[in-house]
Amino acid sequence: SGLNLKVLPGEGPDVREGASEVATEGVSRAEDFVRGRGIRLVREDGTAFLDAASGTFNVPLGYDHPEVVEAVVEQLRRMAHASSSLMAAQAKQVLSELLAHAPSHLTAGWMRDITGSTANECAVQVAQKATGKTDVLSLFLSHHGQTQFTTAISGNAFRRKGFPEAVSPHSVKVPAPYCYRCFYKAKYPGCGMLCVERISDFVEYASSGSVACMLVEPVLGNGGNVVPPPGYFQALNKLCEEKGILLIADEVQTGMGRTGHLFASEALGFKPNIVTLAKGLGGIGVPVAAVLFEGTLDVLESHEHSFTSGCNPVALTAASATLKAMTSGHLLANVRRNGIILGELLRTLATRHPCVGDVRGLGYMWGLEIVREDGSPDVEKTLALIRVAQERHQLVLRGSRYSFGNVVKVRPPLIATQDDLEEIVARLGRALADVG
Ligand code: PMP
Repeated sequence: SGLNLKVLPGEGPDVREGASEVATEGVSRAEDFVRGRGIRLVREDGTAFLDAASGTFNVPLGYDHPEVVEAVVEQLRRMAHASSSLMAAQAKQVLSELLAHAPSHLTAGWMRDITGSTANECAVQVAQKATGKTDVLSLFLSHHGQTQFTTAISGNAFRRKGFPEAVSPHSVKVPAPYCYRCFYKAKYPGCGMLCVERISDFVEYASSGSVACMLVEPVLGNGGNVVPPPGYFQALNKLCEEKGILLIADEVQTGMGRTGHLFASEALGFKPNIVTLAKGLGGIGVPVAAVLFEGTLDVLESHEHSFTSGCNPVALTAASATLKAMTSGHLLANVRRNGIILGELLRTLATRHPCVGDVRGLGYMWGLEIVREDGSPDVEKTLALIRVAQERHQLVLRGSRYSFGNVVKVRPPLIATQDDLEEIVARLGRALADVG
């Protein structure tokens, strides 16, 4: 096939996330893609791969969206950067555009970050400073970033094994709402939602008693595309309110249209006090991030969370153009409509392949859990499936390395049409047939 397939069953996680997202799961670095067209990634020799994975390395508008490319190029020609302190007006303008589309209780924000990791750090800083408290609750299986602190508060044991020093005395992890493999071995809805109910015990017995915030992904992304059961977030909202804990929604993966809505938290009917965005905010892959919060939480001074590349005008321009592209046409309505079809196609696939134990997702954010006959996670088959899909059918897929390692993520760019989705699922079906 010409592909140098590097992932071996049982291999540990590659922690160099980002540039090598695809490379680490199939295509070797020497064969990086050199071009992107629509939802296709193209290699030097002209081979095009259908991108079914960009919900993770997030290119929601495809690789060459004309308006966003144009706006970014125009900005580059004028000026690529100046000190963040000289860009405050543009940052304020783009922030106000974003807030105009955000849930109405979010009225302030921070547009100085270019990655999700530092946006989450900012959100925690805001929460700690506003409450005067220290501890951070997060979920088992969660992933909140690559910095030392966000690694420490991420609930992914597999990932943290590579960084035993990445721990924080202020981090308290609680069981995730993962019904397929419930940590309490209970069954929804008869379980009484122990995954919310028992959080009080963690606050009481595992924290310092001074809990500032709880950080949650509306759909656990790298943790295996876990969609919490109905009522979970409403119960969490209530619990946090009762205990004076600020709720932060990490929408780095779910935000900016991935679930068919700009904000998954709004679509799922809960009200986080703080929301972080990154990945998809740059539309065509330009790095930019944002932190939005309730006005009463506007407590940070500009020097308290500041970077050389903060308020970068190219990044801000990309965010503004992306927002316009997402809110002016039918893109999100298409994702909502086609996302239902994608789910149905994947469920049909699962009926033909018993190794697909669970299919779950929203919008263009889906995951297939690959299992053995006894229901245990089949990591080897998961890796083989991704390898075969890439090797024989030229489909870029991603696996979840951070949960039980047995979830295949299906997350095409949001511009994918129904025909594209059918083609992706057909290729995935052929790969499933190949791995048996
Ligand atoms: N939060 C979530 C939910 C993520 O999936 C990621 C990246 N995979 C991050 C935060 C970190 O974002 P970044 O890589 O831009 O720092």
